[in-house]
Amino acid sequence: MNQDFDVIIVGLGPVGSLTALLLEESGLKVLAIDKENEIYSLPRAVTISDEGLRIAQAANIEDIYLKNSTKLGGAAFVNKNLEVIGGVLDIEDVITSNGWAPSRMFHQPLTDQAMRDELRRTKVTILLEHELIDLKNEETHVNVCIKDLKNKKDFQFSSKYLIGSDGGASSVRSLLEISQEDLNYNQDWVVVDVKLKGKNQLDNRALQICDPERLCTYIPSHLPFRRWEFMINESDNKNDFLDDEKIQNLIKRWLQPDQYQIVRKAVYQFHSVIAEKLNKGRSFLIGDAAHQAPPFMGEGMMSGYRDAMNVYWKIALTIQNNLDHKLLNTYQKERKPHAKFVVENSAGIGELMEAYAKTDDPSKVPDVLVAKGYGSFVLPGLDEGLFYGGKADESMNSGHLFPQPLIYKNNEVFKREDEILGNSFTLISKDKISIGKQDKKFLQDIGCTFVILDEHYISQNHWVKKVLDLGEVFLIRPDKYIFGCSSNKVSLEQLIDDLRKRI
Ligand SMILES: Cc1cc2nc3c(=O)[nH]c(=O)nc-3n(C[C@H](O)[C@H](O)[C@H](O)COP(=O)(O)OP(=O)(O)OC[C@H]3O[C@@H](n4cnc5c(N)ncnc54)[C@H](O)[C@@H]3O)c2cc1C
Repeated sequence: MNQDFDVIIVGLGPVGSLTALLLEESGLKVLAIDKENEIYSLPRAVTISDEGLRIAQAANIEDIYLKNSTKLGGAAFVNKNLEVIGGVLDIEDVITSNGWAPSRMFHQPLTDQAMRDELRRTKVTILLEHELIDLKNEETHVNVCIKDLKNKKDFQFSSKYLIGSDGGASSVRSLLEISQEDLNYNQDWVVVDVKLKGKNQLDNRALQICDPERLCTYIPSHLPFRRWEFMINESDNKNDFLDDEKIQNLIKRWLQPDQYQIVRKAVYQFHSVIAEKLNKGRSFLIGDAAHQAPPFMGEGMMSGYRDAMNVYWKIALTIQNNLDHKLLNTYQKERKPHAKFVVENSAGIGELMEAYAKTDDPSKVPDVLVAKGYGSFVLPGLDEGLFYGGKADESMNSGHLFPQPLIYKNNEVFKREDEILGNSFTLISKDKISIGKQDKKFLQDIGCTFVILDEHYISQNHWVKKVLDLGEVFLIRPDKYIFGCSSNKVSLEQLIDDLRKRI
């Protein structure tokens, strides 16, 4: 077996699997390998955000998450007596501009398995129990050596591009000799998933319990599951924390041992690290291979999903249109600062918990720390990259996602309509537009969809209206980020010409 592929994906965790689905949908020939046969079994991701669901929608797997998840009611910081002391977030009935609830709690074994099954139905070549052992970036392609772990044989493959989604201990990152920046949160925690035996009586909000004796997080996972995470203090022996009796003792203020079964438990050192570079030559790092954050914000896998969404279409467009590396170079420029924000702010929630735990008067916690809590910060947009003029511009709302077109019925979202934007670039406006012959040819070559948005998408959706009020014709990227818009300052010709120069 020695075939050439468009893309080789190393690592089929959730991030690699999503990327494989997106690339295959774009018509590329993909090889995806994983050194394990089964999906990861220890407790990890539980939350998918509105943006995560929108990305899942792009890969046609939103139903996988919807079937196996529940809306999160809210979040709060509480003291050791479980009294609220800050950062209250009530999101039960919220729908965001992405068209989904801000956060849904899912059961990862179910979603990961369903994604693996979905991948098996595609044309992606999947090699399980195959480990990457070497890789070389060449001028025109990447060569890899892969070990078949069952038959103890090595194989050579080559591809135009390689994606390392091989997790925190990434071999791709090591083989590319990319170092990591340590952002200084390294703390042991035990994570426990339990299955309730009876009716649920527990809170439907995530709680950060700022108990000076032991910090703890309670997560209302998808029923019948519930999760607790307990910090392991320096004076503790971390090996004790996988003992069922010890865990039952920690959980007993909520539940008695006969009310649940422990289904998964793990001691982790929560890290906050980011790779110095997110790509080298024709190889790209995504997901935990590129960055790891403590899970307080529930955004680690989401950050990986954003990487996947950012890089997949750039690779597809580059291959399909024979482009040089200019477009691909925007991956690191766009993703690294954003991923770093997530890592730093996830650790920030841990710092805020520590500060609340140390005081009897929460109002004395400095504002700068409170600003790191839920409800205080919003995820930023992208800054430098593939935007009009090379930099996001608030006056065009570039660097932000275009709101998802929605259809409402009885004041509820009835249909999510990202599909009308197509899978490549989109030119979108309220009125008919005229485009010169050459510009039209260029846009058609890159698969651009032309959309005149019906009035009902605008009148019922204040996010769409607010964005469209900023300009005339909007140019949207395949990942739904706004490239820019024409207005009385920038003509449509200038907008299209700027895109042409940048890809
Ligand atoms: C306790 C906890 C809670 C979390 N909660 C959330 C949350 O609620 N929401 C959220 O968004 N994120 C959360 N995260 C983060 C999230 O779990 C991770 O970011 C995500 O699982 C990473 O996925 P990945 O696909 O990048 O890597 P992984 O899932 O680690 O997958 C890497 C894959 O690569 C394979 N591999 C490794 N090396 C090789 C090799 N040499 N050759 C072939 N294959 C290889 C591995 O077998 C593995 O299957 C949490 C993390 C923890 C620890």
